[in-house]
Amino acid sequence: MKDFSQFIREVPDFPKPDIVFKDITPLLGNPTAFHKVIDEFVRHYKHEAIDVVTGIEARGFIFATAIAYRLGAAFVPIRKKGKLPAETHEVAYDLEYGHDTVEIHKDAFPKHSSVLICDDLLATGGTLAASINLIEKLEGHIVGVAVLMELLELNGREKIPNYDIFSLIKY
Ligand code: AMP
Repeated sequence: MKDFSQFIREVPDFPKPDIVFKDITPLLGNPTAFHKVIDEFVRHYKHEAIDVVTGIEARGFIFATAIAYRLGAAFVPIRKKGKLPAETHEVAYDLEYGHDTVEIHKDAFPKHSSVLICDDLLATGGTLAASINLIEKLEGHIVGVAVLMELLELNGREKIPNYDIFSLIKY
């Protein structure tokens, strides 16, 4: 099974007009497809020394925790503003549909840790660029960026040059 796009439901005009939302719940609801997606990510990164997998709230958590578990790495959440209880670094950014701020705990991992960043979807790249900025504030070494889906026409890769981006579904 390589074509995972068959498990992604496209929902027009959600959460705003003219956005076609890529809904991952059919994929998550199919045990074989979900398993294979995690296997593909693990296959790509298993020979890298990865200390930490960070997932971006909320759908990034789903993939990042499973990958972290399989790689024997730590999981670190990057969350939307106001959700993390201890001291945080924060970075504000623009979205395909609005603005947001992401945060990470200041003590999330030791300096020079090898970090894999994970999210469900790369659109304009704003979310991942902000997350990379957070990892850099903690002096982490970014090994790569893993996303399930990539919207090629939005050129998100241009916002995060110099990083190895691995995506399983390209639109
Ligand atoms: P961006 O910062 O523009 O790259 O947007 C990526 C973030 O927004 C990811 O965390 C996605 O979950 C979410 N996102 C953006 N566009 C879509 C879309 N068309 N369908 C589902 N999620 C999206």
